[in-house]
Amino acid sequence: MSIVSFKNTILHNLVSKPKTRKVEKEFPVGTRGHVENDMDLCVLCGLCSIKCPTHAISIDKAEKTWSINPMSCIQCRCCVDNCPKKSLSMGVRFQEPGTEKITKTFKQSEKAIAAQEALMKAAKERAAAAAAAKAAQAAAAGNAQAAPAANAQAAPAASAPAQKPAEEPKA
Ligand code: SF4
Ligand code: SF4
Repeated sequence: MSIVSFKNTILHNLVSKPKTRKVEKEFPVGTRGHVENDMDLCVLCGLCSIKCPTHAISIDKAEKTWSINPMSCIQCRCCVDNCPKKSLSMGVRFQEPGTEKITKTFKQSEKAIAAQEALMKAAKERAAAAAAAKAAQAAAAGNAQAAPAANAQAAPAASAPAQKPAEEPKA
């Protein structure tokens, strides 16, 4: 078979538009790509890990890292919807193909660590202030209860008639 027999097809393909589209440039609206985390916002609370139905996310608070296993992720978006800091999002690009299962690990940023420490310090101070206020309230309530009791003990003594001195026996 010579190339001449394909000449019409070849000429047609040379002048016509491609029948395929560039997926990389044309993601449909609502495409759920891989999960992305803004480590400037993440406080490592672990809620995303708890909510993930496939256990694709793990948190290491000691190492201050957030990890995801992309091969386990089913792009359900549950973690994104439950993140209290809105640090998670669904990237619209599809996951890069790979030949091995890898876990991607991201370290919490210095900015996020500082913000988290400031929040914890403020929370501790609020708790200490609340405890001090409660203790002061309890002490005030105790004083208020003790005062009437002391008055009640003192009152009968003051109102009791003076006892007559015992008569001396006659000789
Ligand atoms: S991504 Fe969001 S839900 Fe997950 S640990 Fe970070 S702050 Fe918490
Ligand atoms: S999108 Fe769904 S499966 Fe993927 S990490 Fe988030 S919760 Fe887990």
